[in-house]
Amino acid sequence: MSSSLLADASKILAKAMKYVSISEDAIEYLKYPQASLAVSIPVRMDDGSLKIFPGYRVRYDDTRGPTKGGVRFHPNVTMDEVQSLAFWMTFKCAVLNLPFGGAKGGITLNPKTLSRMELERLSRGYVNAIADFIGPDIDIPAPDVYTNAMIMGWMMDQYSIIRRQICPAVVTGKPITMGGSLGREAATAMGAFFTIEDIMAKLDRKPAETTVAVQGFGNAGAIIAELLFKAGYKIVAVSDSQGGIYAPAGLDIPSIRQYKLSSKGIKAVYCEGSVCSIVEHEVLTNQELLALDVDILVPAAIENQITAYNADDIKAKYIFEVANGPVSSDADTILEAKNIEVFPDILVNAGGVTVSYFEWVQNRSGLYWSLQEVNQRLRLKMVEETDRIWQIAQEHSIPMRTAAYVHALNRLGEAIDAKGTRDYYTNPDPHHG
Ligand code: NAD
Repeated sequence: MSSSLLADASKILAKAMKYVSISEDAIEYLKYPQASLAVSIPVRMDDGSLKIFPGYRVRYDDTRGPTKGGVRFHPNVTMDEVQSLAFWMTFKCAVLNLPFGGAKGGITLNPKTLSRMELERLSRGYVNAIADFIGPDIDIPAPDVYTNAMIMGWMMDQYSIIRRQICPAVVTGKPITMGGSLGREAATAMGAFFTIEDIMAKLDRKPAETTVAVQGFGNAGAIIAELLFKAGYKIVAVSDSQGGIYAPAGLDIPSIRQYKLSSKGIKAVYCEGSVCSIVEHEVLTNQELLALDVDILVPAAIENQITAYNADDIKAKYIFEVANGPVSSDADTILEAKNIEVFPDILVNAGGVTVSYFEWVQNRSGLYWSLQEVNQRLRLKMVEETDRIWQIAQEHSIPMRTAAYVHALNRLGEAIDAKGTRDYYTNPDPHHG
């Protein structure tokens, strides 16, 4: 494991290992991705020229079931990044007790530079390149950063063309009309909301007295901001890649979402829009947002936002990781020393993959659930696993991140060990002597 992102991601295993009783074999298995595929995707551009895009798909571990994980379209996508994201997916699926292993995929590009037709040819080209690596019982892609339901629909359609049969369960996060699940779009934020509510109740904190800053105002960030706003929390700051806004009296999140939907940046809301006059506000950078003195900080943008460089500046009491990997392992140590409790991504943002699992179940059974049923089932799962991790953390006096990995490692280790351990092979079988 020479790669830096995966090596950093897997440092947590050493911490969690002290509190589990699984075989060394199981830990050894989990240090390495099971299969990593790198492909070149040829795309005919609108002007007739040909471009080749690098793409990746990693199946990290399938001991607990077919692998599951999103596809990211971003200029920074590398094999190393995809492997570390697949590692997190493995643990996330185990935390939620889903019958899935972990995977991830990506294409290195800036999707904003492609026309819609180029994007469709690229998405279908990606599936052509990885078709033998995925399948409803092998590996099931889903949306991630800069991919959406429309792209998932193209991918499912392309896979169905290749297999010459309709295969809705090969991809989740599809449009509702192509077998998508109600509630999938908001699921990541909804799951995070259920976890935050559960934890705040344990801490006896009232929403109206709890201030929140949210970094990232995309699918996950904007919806969690709105859910918390509607539940009475005071959202004092939000940001996107262009920068953020801060109002100690609280922001009107639904109006900001309306402006964002008309594809303007968050700053534009306050510089040009009528919301400017509603509350006093300041424009601030993402670094300033992260350092605000708030009760809850929600990083919901991209990875490595809180690192050893800025962890000392963080003043929030609780961090709920809606993004994947927003806090580096070095920063974790600094935050722990400052008594800042970090609620980890593999629990907090697991609502997305949980409703993806519900979508896969609905596709395979052919019976579709109401939005109310989806959200009820999601709430049950999020609260149950949040409570278990909370108990592990209390029992061993360890941070919630370590506790979440202990919880997942116990489930993964049990499954890996069921296939045979060193003891099993070296000690005579009492029944078959
Ligand atoms: P998205 O593309 O919809 O939104 C990303 C947001 O982050 C945008 O508002 C963008 O402007 C902002 N952003 C990008 N770079 C930034 C920076 N440097 N500083 C501040 N803001 C920045 O993506 P999303 O689906 O909301 O995903 C956000 C995070 O949540 C990612 O880490 C993703 O892996 C994670 N996540 C998403 C889902 C899901 O179902 N959408 C599920 C699990 C985890």
